[in-house]
Amino acid sequence: MAKERKFQISLKPDWRYLTFVTGPEEEKMNSKFENSFKEQGFTKPTLIQEQVYEPLKEGKSVLGLAPTGSGKTLAYLLPLLEQVDKAQGVQLVIVAPSQELAAQITEVARQWAKLVDLTVLSLIGGANVKRQIEKLKKAPEVVIGTPGRMLELAENKKLKLHNVKAFVFDEADDLLTEQTLVACRSLLNHAPGIVQLAFFSATKSDIFDQLHQWFGTEVEVFDVRAEDQTQGEVEHFLVETPVRKRIDTLRKLSNLEKFSALVFFKKVTEIENAADKLKYLGVKVAVLEGQQRQVEREKALRQLRKGEISLLLTTDVAARGLDIVGLPAVINYDLPKDSNTYIHRVGRTGRMGASGIVINLGNDHDLRNFRQLVQSENYELHFGTVYRGALLRVEEIPDEVRESQLSKSKTEPVQRKKKKIVSPVIVEKKKHKKRKRDRLNKGKRHKKENQ
Ligand code: ADP
Ligand code: MG
Repeated sequence: MAKERKFQISLKPDWRYLTFVTGPEEEKMNSKFENSFKEQGFTKPTLIQEQVYEPLKEGKSVLGLAPTGSGKTLAYLLPLLEQVDKAQGVQLVIVAPSQELAAQITEVARQWAKLVDLTVLSLIGGANVKRQIEKLKKAPEVVIGTPGRMLELAENKKLKLHNVKAFVFDEADDLLTEQTLVACRSLLNHAPGIVQLAFFSATKSDIFDQLHQWFGTEVEVFDVRAEDQTQGEVEHFLVETPVRKRIDTLRKLSNLEKFSALVFFKKVTEIENAADKLKYLGVKVAVLEGQQRQVEREKALRQLRKGEISLLLTTDVAARGLDIVGLPAVINYDLPKDSNTYIHRVGRTGRMGASGIVINLGNDHDLRNFRQLVQSENYELHFGTVYRGALLRVEEIPDEVRESQLSKSKTEPVQRKKKKIVSPVIVEKKKHKKRKRDRLNKGKRHKKENQ
C-alpha cells in the first residue's frame, strides 16, 4: 500500500494569480490544452509561458530565461506540440542533461501529447537501447532524451530526424558545454538545415551571447528572471558544522517533522559512506548518482517523491530541472563551487509558490567563502542551528542559551533549557526512544550479517 506523503505543500494563498501580467491567453491555445490547463488548476500561464507562446508557435527560435520552478517545460511544450502533425515522423526533439530530467519531461509531454493523439518516446542513456529501437519503429512524433543516446541512435540511423521542425535544449547552459555541446551540434546535423531552436534555463552562460555563431540561427531572447514571481518563500540557512559532525547534523535534520530533502555532495565516494552511516543511525535515506543503474536511480527519486525516505543523497546530477512537488528542503552537505550551481540546487525547493528551506553546512571558513560566492545573487542568509528539535535562526534562540553556547566549545551538545521557543521553523517529530533503539540494534545485526 502506498504510504501517505509525509510533507505538505504550502502555497502562497493567491499564488496562481501572482504570476501573470495580462489576462488569459485562452483564445490562442488549442482547446484541448486549454481544458487540461484548467483541470490541473493552472488558470493562467506564467510569465515565461505567456512571453514565448506566440513566438514559438510562429516558428521563431528563442532563448527563454526564467527562474527555477516557473513553468518553463509547458512554456515550450504547448506551442511546439501544437505544430506537430500526426504520423509524420519525429518532428519535435527535446534534449535534457540528465536521465531523470528527460524522464520527467517525457512524463509531462505524454500527458499533453495524448490529448492531441501524438506519441512521445523517451531516449535516455542507461535505458535498454534495443527496446528504444523497437519503439522507434512505431514512429513517435516527439522524442525526449539525453544527448549521447540520441546521437548514438541518429548515427545508427535508428532515429530519423529529417522531418524535425523544432529542437529544444532544456537546461541549455548546462547542455551547451564540452562533450554535450558537441553531441547537441552533431545531433542537429542529422536534422534539416532550417530548424526551429529553443533554449531554456534559469541561468545564463557566455554561449548564450554566441548562439548565432554556434547554431547559425537568429535567436530572440525572453528574459523574465527579474520579473517572474512564481517562487515561494525560501529561507536560506548557514549551519556551522565541523566536517566530522556533518552526518550527525543530517541525522538531526532528518528528525524534524515533515522534513525531506535532497542532499548535495561533491564526491560519489563520500555519498556511499554517508548513506551507510545514516542507515545505521536509523535514517531513511537513498542515493542517486550517475554511476548507478537506471532502475536504481529511478527508484531513489520515486522514494523521495512518495515521501518514503527523508534524505536523498545526490550529486549535481540532480541539481537541474527536477520538479519534486512540495520538496521541503535542500541541503548542501558540500557547498557548491559557483553561484549558478547554487541557484539550480536550491531551485528544487520553493517551486511555483511553495515554500522551502535551504541548509548550507560548513565550518566558519567555508561559510565565509560561500557568502562571497553567492553575494551577487542577494540571498538573505541566516545562521541557523537545530535547537531542541527545531531548526531556528540563531537570533531566535533564547539569549542566555546562545551566550552559554558561545562560551563553550562548538562541538559540545546544546544545553537544554525549559524555556518555550517561539516561532520554530520546523518542529521535531516525537521521539520513540524504544523504537529507535530497536532500529539501532537491527542495524548492528544487519552489519554483522553482511561482514
Ligand atoms: P521550470 O522548468 O521553470 O523549473 P517546471 O516546468 O518544472 O518549471 O514547472 C514547475 C511546476 O509548475 C510544475 O509542477 C508544473 O506542473 C507547474 N506549472 C506549470 N505551469 C503552471 C501554471 N501556469 N500555473 C501553475 N502551475 C504551473
Ligand atoms: Mg525545467
